[in-house]
Amino acid sequence: MADVDADIGVVGLGAWGSATLWRLAHRGVDVLGFERFEPGHALGASHGGSRMFRLSCYEHRGLVALAKRSLQLWRELAAAAGVPLLDLSGGLLIGAPAGRMISQTLANARDFDLDVERLDVTELRRRFPQHEGVPAEHVGVWEPSAGLLRPEAAVKAAVAVSARLGARVCPDTRVVRIEPVSGAVLLHTPTQTFRVRRAIVAVGAWCSALIPRLPLRIIRKPITWFALQGPPGQFSVERFPMFKRECADGRVLWGCGAYDSADVKLGLEAKGSWVPAEIDPDLLDRSTSLADWEELGRVVSKALPGVRPVPTRVSVCMGTHTPDNQFVLGPVGGDPRLIVATGESSQGFKHATGIGEFLAQTAVGEAPTVPLPFTDPDRFLTKKP
Ligand SMILES: Cc1cc2nc3c(=O)[nH]c(=O)nc-3n(C[C@H](O)[C@H](O)[C@H](O)COP(=O)(O)OP(=O)(O)OC[C@H]3O[C@@H](n4cnc5c(N)ncnc54)[C@H](O)[C@@H]3O)c2cc1C
Repeated sequence: MADVDADIGVVGLGAWGSATLWRLAHRGVDVLGFERFEPGHALGASHGGSRMFRLSCYEHRGLVALAKRSLQLWRELAAAAGVPLLDLSGGLLIGAPAGRMISQTLANARDFDLDVERLDVTELRRRFPQHEGVPAEHVGVWEPSAGLLRPEAAVKAAVAVSARLGARVCPDTRVVRIEPVSGAVLLHTPTQTFRVRRAIVAVGAWCSALIPRLPLRIIRKPITWFALQGPPGQFSVERFPMFKRECADGRVLWGCGAYDSADVKLGLEAKGSWVPAEIDPDLLDRSTSLADWEELGRVVSKALPGVRPVPTRVSVCMGTHTPDNQFVLGPVGGDPRLIVATGESSQGFKHATGIGEFLAQTAVGEAPTVPLPFTDPDRFLTKKP
């Protein structure tokens, strides 16, 4: 007789949790998934129509192998679900050659044999005339294998394929407390308690409510779409693919061309407001105002004169950052029953499938396909305050 309701419980089915559920179900593990809303909702970090994918990952050398593995798994998931999830229309970085973004991208490309092309400013202006005012000393890096993922469709696909493989999914079910007990973990919802051998907690910005010891900071981030001054030709995603561009004043403008008949999506990397630690993410202000896009509009009017600098649509998203801006993945305090996945640091969607595999392997005791030692949660817990 089973003494547990499932071998593994996955709490939170956003990008990371849904991919984890899939990789566990793929292994034939008896797994239960809990999501407090409907999978694919717009209240966490995994919505907004598109997410950038790059292999070159200047954010950390150790992420290149993860992105490569994630790409294989994104293709596998799209094939299993029978829906398009990934559009590799290429990606462009623009910035100072000595800056971290460009120099680390080129270093990773060299060290990990990635296909990238360095563009001097003349070539950059010729191929991407939409970008106005690029300083003469800046360069471009073109990565043909970069592109865009579809976040809502990806989450729904991972949940649907998992269910087909035997995972049990509980939508609209909030886990309100996690209680490690002898040989198991109790997952308490408002109406029921589930007993599992191991729990993987992938609740993003809501992590502190369930696992309070991690130094997480939540950022409220606007996502913004803009219409064009003229006809769409120059700004289709094929001609104006995903990009990140260091402006002359050091701010980073990011975006991508019109995709699925939507407008051009643009943002400023550092734009957002830190949410005070005591504020529950449920109380985040989701209304939008001029303050959410005014500065971006000014940057856009100079950098992309083909775009109208007043947005057609603004929505609010949440980022969860750690002090070193790297992920938090693994058992907490050495307890193998409780595995955490948070701290996505506004760069974690592209890696979701690889992270799901890493977490599934950690939970079942398999050697990881891509080891991620720099994401160990205990790097924060063992430090003295
Ligand atoms: C504006 C913005 C732009 C970004 N752009 C990119 C990009 O271009 N490329 C890229 O790679 N990354 C990007 N990111 C980062 C990426 O979107 C995130 O890393 C990723 O979505 C994180 O997924 P997650 O599963 O950790 O969080 P979430 O998607 O927020 O999932 C957490 C889930 O847990 C559920 N939950 C919470 N509490 C409970 C509970 N108690 N019980 C049950 N369920 C619960 C929530 O409802 C939610 O569904 C961006 C992030 C932002 C904010």
